[in-house]
Amino acid sequence: MTDSPPLPNGNWPELKPGWVWLCGAGPGDPGLLTLHALNGLRQADVIVYDALVDAAILDWALPRAERIYAGKRGGKPSAKQADISLRLCELAKAGKRVLRLKGGDPFVFGRGGEEAQTLVQQGIPIRIIPGISAGIGGLAYAGIPVTHRDVNQAVTFVTGHDQTGQTPASLDWKALAKGSQVLVIYMGMKHAPEIAGALLDAGRPKDEPVAVVAQATTPDQKVLETTLGRMVDDIAAAAFNPPAIICIGRSVLMRQVLDWQSWAAGQVPRDLDPLKRAPG
Ligand code: SAH
Repeated sequence: MTDSPPLPNGNWPELKPGWVWLCGAGPGDPGLLTLHALNGLRQADVIVYDALVDAAILDWALPRAERIYAGKRGGKPSAKQADISLRLCELAKAGKRVLRLKGGDPFVFGRGGEEAQTLVQQGIPIRIIPGISAGIGGLAYAGIPVTHRDVNQAVTFVTGHDQTGQTPASLDWKALAKGSQVLVIYMGMKHAPEIAGALLDAGRPKDEPVAVVAQATTPDQKVLETTLGRMVDDIAAAAFNPPAIICIGRSVLMRQVLDWQSWAAGQVPRDLDPLKRAPG
């Protein structure tokens, strides 16, 4: 395959010329990549990657691999979705082994479904490689389990803005407030005031725990613990760098016992049984 060190024993698929592997890169920490992703990185002629993909991950690609940036960061103009899909088609049709690397999981608020559909419509063979999504793995790095038996039997993943850049009008915030014990909000920082307002209006308590995890799983990870009533002011004061994920619900309290990164750094748990003592 390559001169890279071997993967663990197994029947690893070959990334064939003319194929596109649409692959999740996880939330940041390169160790959260899957072995299928690593296997793809070690074979790809071309890697088309997003802004949220950590540079260290690209270091695992073949030195000769072409690296194409398709993200929006660093003041570079944003590549249009249709252009990216088209580019992927061209590369595949030119007989390249193409790895399309996206932050988190490609099918979670990542437009992976659209890209994959275009590829299939163009007759290009694809493989989908899931990744660890920020709304699950990113929260885990902050010591927040997205489900916990004593808290929630459902979790709702929400996008904070839609194609128009506005808070999604299609979302019934009243129903969400009523039916979802834990809400995990992607791309929610810009519209945090509308989101908090809608949930409070719908009857969620002001003192409901909220966490904001910025740059989750990276060495720059920062966590804000706040409440629904205070989150808007606290988010403004914290002035975190993006990306950030917002978790609303009592599972946030579990961080008091599960903030494992702080324990590893010498702090001690604040409360060994935070849910029992929590109101409600
Ligand atoms: N497909 C990605 C999500 C892409 S949408 C996934 O599955 O994770 C981009 C949003 O994801 C960001 O606005 C932010 O809310 C969240 N996000 C991605 N990476 C993150 C990280 N390392 N820390 C915090 N939030 C992150």
